[in-house]
Order: sequence, then structure tokens, then C-alpha cells
Amino acid sequence: MKNVIMLGPPGAGKGTQAVRLARALGLPHVSTGDMLRAAVKAGTPLGREAKRHMDAGGLVPDEVVIGIALDRIAEPDAGQGFIFDGFPRTIPQAEALDARLAAQERRITHVVNLDVPEDVVVERIASRRAPDGSVRDDDKPDAVRARMRAYRAQTEPLEGYYARAGVLRSVDGTKSMDEVYEAVKKVLG
Ligand code: AMP
Repeated sequence: MKNVIMLGPPGAGKGTQAVRLARALGLPHVSTGDMLRAAVKAGTPLGREAKRHMDAGGLVPDEVVIGIALDRIAEPDAGQGFIFDGFPRTIPQAEALDARLAAQERRITHVVNLDVPEDVVVERIASRRAPDGSVRDDDKPDAVRARMRAYRAQTEPLEGYYARAGVLRSVDGTKSMDEVYEAVKKVLG
């Protein structure tokens, strides 16, 4: 059983690493950002609510995100574990996740913190494009600044939270994609 969280600032490479790792381990890649973007695209009430926050670079309220994340890992394909990418992002989200897992006698087994300085991630995001060449609305400069503020204020404290739980391992995320992947695999054993 591997219940994994990829942690790190926007643009650290969490998604890239999580996708590759999930494929290698045969576990679902669970990105709350992807699920929220799908809801926005589908125009559901949840999507409309989420969009306001996402476009401004802020976090979607805990109660919304916790619901979709916990529902997702209740699905059968997550029975042997999961790779979370972009969740949890706040202490209340982490606590809700821990409580749900504990109720099933499960726990987070690994938290991989992708360590990348802020100037490097800001640079990376500025040059990031979707496969069709488009730029994510929240990759525009004002939204990026807001996302970095949200990261520092609300997400960074998770490093201490998971360090205290004894599951945090940091990886140098400034290296090449392949080098980071090798380091991540080593952390997961
Ligand atoms: P991401 O693709 O992970 O960078 O997420 C894109 C955006 O979706 C974030 O900037 C937030 O607005 C929202 N989001 C994704 N995951 C979460 C989460 N766990 N908590 C709150 N908001 C989230």
C-alpha cells in the first residue's frame, strides 16, 4: 500500500512526476486541479464556484475540495493506494484526509516535497504551455503571484505537519525531469 502526496509550489513539477509515478506503480494519479478544471469545463455548479477562486489564483474552499478528493479515493482503483497531486493544500484538508484514512486503518505513507526556489518556479510557469499551445488562465502573472502567496501562507505549513508525522522527504526539484524522477523513486523505495 502506497498512499502518496506530492507536495511543492505551483510549477515545481508535481503533475509531471505524479503522472509518471502513478503509471509505474499502477496507482491512480489524483489531481484536484484536474478534477476542478473538468468541473469548470462541464459548467457544473461546483465548477462555477471553483472558477472564481481559480482564475484569481486563490484556493477553492476546503469543504468543496475535501469532498471531491475523499470521494475519489473511495473508488475501487484507489484500494491499493494513490498519488495525490495538489491535495492537500491546507492543514484542514490534511486533517480531513488523515481522519478518513484512519477510519479505514490506512495512513499517508510518503510525502514527497519537491523543493524548488520561488524565482525558478515563477520562471517555469511563465514559459508553460498546454499541448495545444494555450496558456492556463491562472498561469498569467497576477494569478501566479496570488498562487505563490496562497502556497506560502496555506500550503507550506504542511511541510511541518508531515515532518512531525515522520513521512516527509524532500527532493531537489531543480534538477532535470529524469533526475527528479529517479530521486522520487528512491524515496518511495
Ligand atoms: P493545480 O492544477 O493543482 O495547480 O490547481 C489549480 C487551481 O485549482 C489552484 O490554484 C486552486 O485554485 C485549485 N485547487 C486545486 N487543488 C486544490 C486544493 N487542494 N485546495 C484548494 N484549491 C485547489
